[in-house]
Amino acid sequence: MAASAAGLKNRSHFFGNCSRGRATPFFVDLKPTLMRLSRYFLPVTKETPADAQIVSHKLMLRAGLVRQTAAGIYAWLPLGLRVLKKIEQVVREEQDKAGAIELLMPTIQAADLWRESGRYDAYGPEMLRFTDRHEREMLYGPTNEEMITAIFRDATKSYRDLPRTLYHIQWKFRDEVRPRFGVMRGREFLMKDAYSFDLDEAGLKASYEAMFVAYLRTFARLGLQAVPVRAPTGPIGGNLSHEFHVLAETGESAVFYDAALEDVTHEELLTADASTIARLTDLYAMEAEEHEKVGECPVPPDRLRSRRGIEVGHIFAFGTKYSASMGMTVQNKEGGSAHPHMGSYGIGVSRLMGAIIEARHDNGGIIWPEAVAPFRVGLINMRADDAGCASTSDNLYAQLQQAGVETLYDDRDERGGAKFATMDLIGLPWQLIVGPRGLERGVVELKKRATGEREELSLEGALARLSLG
Ligand code: ATP
Ligand code: MG
Repeated sequence: MAASAAGLKNRSHFFGNCSRGRATPFFVDLKPTLMRLSRYFLPVTKETPADAQIVSHKLMLRAGLVRQTAAGIYAWLPLGLRVLKKIEQVVREEQDKAGAIELLMPTIQAADLWRESGRYDAYGPEMLRFTDRHEREMLYGPTNEEMITAIFRDATKSYRDLPRTLYHIQWKFRDEVRPRFGVMRGREFLMKDAYSFDLDEAGLKASYEAMFVAYLRTFARLGLQAVPVRAPTGPIGGNLSHEFHVLAETGESAVFYDAALEDVTHEELLTADASTIARLTDLYAMEAEEHEKVGECPVPPDRLRSRRGIEVGHIFAFGTKYSASMGMTVQNKEGGSAHPHMGSYGIGVSRLMGAIIEARHDNGGIIWPEAVAPFRVGLINMRADDAGCASTSDNLYAQLQQAGVETLYDDRDERGGAKFATMDLIGLPWQLIVGPRGLERGVVELKKRATGEREELSLEGALARLSLG
């Protein structure tokens, strides 16, 4: 692909900083250079798409984030891809902090691998199966327990190789009977899945709790309050499992929880120690089916709350299910052999985008939290036909870029009203508005998307404000 002249110019700026004089210069892709709306690809629409039932799906289509290419399968358009990458990065950072190690497994798997665990026949029609040209049976992975077990099994001999938690962020395919709500229940979707290997049950419990905390921190950083819910373990098997639900009217699950959970603050979650975690896991929450099965709930009736939730994460401790069926052993301290105890831990990375929008929008459109906003600032030139406005806006744009502030610049020759509507729709946290009347007085307007508050500032003042934090 050809880079624009402006892009090359900005890149060459960095060649000068490359002191080693290698043949291939250090390459920094300064994408923001190309983020003038007049040259960007942002297909927004005013019309509400007829096939979309819930607000996040409508807004994702209207704001040009995704486009459906087949039932439950989406192309990620430039703006949507930026958000997806940011969500992925928050997830990755919290996994890394929890001590998990990233790798990347393929999307396509061999059926024989799944025959080892006995799940090839058990999994059912959600698994997309096909044969290659040599008539070998293959599948598009719906999850990776078998593959990671095989990889770990073939590389691990001793208790000294434990504990380990490995994860990847990779596309999955599940042939959902009813794909709906956009990326919320897709057929192809992006998942973070982690797998822990421990010598014994106590080790597994520690790995599980580390993930539990990592999940709370991840969702808090994404601006979401996610309720941990005790869950039935289903076909993956095992004995300990929690789902994490974002409370939203449009959620597909009914969740029962202790009102005391509502008092837990984000700060508490972000700094949770062992005793806080114990308190959180003890605050009983469960899915509707489980609630009915148990018959009586251990939460005092006056503290029992029921809401709808979107499942954004799910963790399982299943012990030796796969290590035993797939013959993975390690030598233990006594010289004998033991099957490692395992857990698996999923986060719906692409589903999270829908969940964030469900939780954060108004009539005008999306309200991105700073952590995942596709750009931090939307720079609006109100009068592209006015030389003063254009040169001031161009300068502001250049300076914002220099300060490393991710900016989408609406430099198009369009009415101001249309520009405002687009900026509100795509939900960037800040709008910086340059108009002729303000410029006469040497001021620009800064609007906070979340509250609608507007403030007049000098050019320097606006730059300083946006360059901080
Ligand atoms: P659900 O109950 O919503 O069908 P699941 O329990 O089958 O999900 P898991 O196997 O626990 O899903 O997968 C881990 C995470 O992947 C889920 O918590 C969810 O966030 C996400 N996920 C699962 N299925 C889908 C899907 N069809 N589309 C988007 N995300 C999904
Ligand atoms: Mg689940």
